[in-house]
Amino acid sequence: KAKQSGKNKYHYYSSELDEEYMRNLNILTGLKDAVSNDLLDLHFQPKVSLSSDKIAGAEALLRWSRGNPHSIRPDEFIPIIESTELIHNIGAWVIQESCRACKQWHDAGHHITVAANVSALQLTRANFYDIVVNALEESGLEPHYLEIELTEHLLIQENKLVKHQLAALTSLGVSLFIDDFGTGYSNMNYLTRINVDALKLDKSFISQIADSDDYRVIVTAIIRMAQVLGMQVVAEGIETEAVRKLLCGLDCDYAQGYLWSKPVENKQFMDLLESNLAHDICLTA
Ligand code: C2E
Ligand code: MG
Ligand code: MG
Ligand code: MG
Repeated sequence: KAKQSGKNKYHYYSSELDEEYMRNLNILTGLKDAVSNDLLDLHFQPKVSLSSDKIAGAEALLRWSRGNPHSIRPDEFIPIIESTELIHNIGAWVIQESCRACKQWHDAGHHITVAANVSALQLTRANFYDIVVNALEESGLEPHYLEIELTEHLLIQENKLVKHQLAALTSLGVSLFIDDFGTGYSNMNYLTRINVDALKLDKSFISQIADSDDYRVIVTAIIRMAQVLGMQVVAEGIETEAVRKLLCGLDCDYAQGYLWSKPVENKQFMDLLESNLAHDICLTA
């Protein structure tokens, strides 16, 4: 294609742009429809304590399960809605539903946490704090069972509103987790300004630690740094026993991954809670 004449090349690029634009527009229209017709769901993936191999919490992951012919996943549709009002509507719904589900687990006798993914953009609105407080009050969930997962983007820029809302939430007892830690930025100054409870290590690091000395060294160093700074560590994307054992040996606190369970709907998640994973493997690792 690159060898085509200038004119054709221009045509090629512009029709590619049109295609992307149309695709995004279709996704947006579809999602607006999904919101008004209640077609979105939350799935839950267990967060397991590596020392006990018991479920200590769950991460809520957004699913557009119905009326989504191309099975578009959140990795693709979240960035598209981030330029629109939808990120605020859907984001608020995710927090409300997460709190509601977690209270339901508590009522069934399982006092575990729930983690909601929050787009940095949501925090740039002054009503974010109220949305969280209302979700906690309406559900009856105690604040220290709610974890907010944020990526580093916004924390790196110093934004007063973001900082104030995070401080107000953490002083209520809500926890702040840094998602995909170490994947995008090397500036860690924000760790000194903001009260971070835990770092989540991305599966792009974790999946490699059994095969790569370099990755193992990096993950070890991050875990040690977190320990010194009083933060917990959650490793994401554990698929093999080898990786689980290595993380146990490194004193990593928590893990998530297909080794235990994929994200599942609430009913299935509550069955997992009832059977509560007791392989008891870490103690013998
Ligand atoms: P994330 O928050 O880092 O979530 C982890 C992703 O890894 C999830 O993908 C999860 O299903 C997947 N995963 C978990 N364990 C394994 C494993 O062992 N192997 C593999 N290969 N994958 C694993 P998912 O659900 O497709 O979500 C992708 C991303 O979309 C999330 O990454 C998060 O950034 C975003 N996202 C999901 N739900 C929400 C939401 O409610 N709000 C916002 N703002 N973003 C969300
Ligand atoms: Mg997350
Ligand atoms: Mg992550
Ligand atoms: Mg991610």
